[in-house]
Amino acid sequence: MNQSVQAVIDRSTDDIVDVLANYIDLKRSGTGYKACCPFHDEKTPSLSISEQKGIWKCFGCGEGGSAIDFVMKMEGLEFIEAVKKLANQFHITIHKSNKPAEKPSGNRDALVPGLFNQKSEIRKQKKVFVHLSLHKVI
Ligand code: ZN
Repeated sequence: MNQSVQAVIDRSTDDIVDVLANYIDLKRSGTGYKACCPFHDEKTPSLSISEQKGIWKCFGCGEGGSAIDFVMKMEGLEFIEAVKKLANQFHITIHKSNKPAEKPSGNRDALVPGLFNQKSEIRKQKKVFVHLSLHKVI
């Protein structure tokens, strides 16, 4: 995982109360906070937030998780979209890595030797086929 993404996760864990307070009204309760859960209909608060642990949990409907989980659920976002939204809020810049994935590409060839070569051969043949059939039409 990218370092700046990790920074957003850490920050949102530390500031879980601030993150959730953007969406719901929080009330101090003992060592943490309580709120009416936005994920099910209720009049008495059963969602509790632990500032120390950086997690929230609803004892009414069972929903719970990290600050990022909360933003994902509230806004219907993917994980990385929620991270970007929070990064913006925390003024953290997400550095885009140019590598498409962390999987080393060499490994796949090692697992199935020759598979990728075969696939590209098939692709080449298809191209030739399309090329030929176009010429036949003309
Ligand atoms: Zn709930």
